[in-house]
Amino acid sequence: MDRLSTCVIGIDLGGTYIKGAALDLTGQILSEGKIATEVAQGQERVLNNVAGLIADLCKMSGGRSLAGVGLGVPGALDFKEGRIIESPNFPGWDNFPIRSQVEKAVGVPVVIENDASAAAMGERWVGAAQNLDNFLLITLGTGVGGGLVLDGRLWSGETGKAGEVGHMKITPDGPPCGCGSTGCLEVYASSTALVRMAQEEWRRVEGNAAAPAAWITSSGLADAAEQHHPIAEAVFRKMAYYLGIGIANVANLLDIHHFILSGGVSNAFHLFEKPLRQEAARHAFGMTPEEALKRIIIRRALLGESAGMIGAGHLVHLAAKNNGK
Ligand SMILES: [Zn+2]
Repeated sequence: MDRLSTCVIGIDLGGTYIKGAALDLTGQILSEGKIATEVAQGQERVLNNVAGLIADLCKMSGGRSLAGVGLGVPGALDFKEGRIIESPNFPGWDNFPIRSQVEKAVGVPVVIENDASAAAMGERWVGAAQNLDNFLLITLGTGVGGGLVLDGRLWSGETGKAGEVGHMKITPDGPPCGCGSTGCLEVYASSTALVRMAQEEWRRVEGNAAAPAAWITSSGLADAAEQHHPIAEAVFRKMAYYLGIGIANVANLLDIHHFILSGGVSNAFHLFEKPLRQEAARHAFGMTPEEALKRIIIRRALLGESAGMIGAGHLVHLAAKNNGK
């Protein structure tokens, strides 16, 4: 690879939007863009949209030649065959050979990765996890996902589903989860969960009167907690309680001590950081709570919604390195 005159493109293929960036070797963004995915219009339309965005990003990146494309895809993937095994955001795409189809459309090598795993690598490259060889990125959005890095490499698992911390069981008989099970971390730590818990807590404390209209979003709820509304504050404490248990479980299983929080709910990190750290420390194995408070590091991600596309681009560099290029 002639490294100075080339670029890579990272694509974050979401169910609603396709985000992409052309990047140089240092992680500098040369150009970026975002277009609608149009899943409902079918596979060909989505592929055309991906290829069109890549062509536009190339044009805007100052005449550099494209070395490869990294594609972050939500769901379970078959890395050997380059297929989507199953993705809730792309119904009807089971077994779709996404890697070869995009390669055919753009004419350069394509690397695929789970979107949360790609985001973890983005944070490791130029974000909050630089120099960390072992950490879990936890995405707190409408759902809860994760990307796991062990010994400096992504741990994808046998079918790309590793790091799905959102479906770790926290309370076996807890509320139903979108995955079909009950009591998963996701039903306590997602934005959806915060809104639900706020309604529950409001009814418990205030009876039948409706909760404030702004509490229909987690950011509205965060605003109320910011102003020390006792019910809103209690909801964030409850969320921290369960997320702390989840983090301690991961720390105890893997002996890793760094956790990076991203996604919309992480914007309210200052509202739940203290109880979260205390709860994680309380359940940590083999350390006193005082030691655990110092050793278990929980911090916010730095790259926001750009982490996935940046990490996907970086995976092209890493794949080239592994191939000895
Ligand atoms: Zn679940």
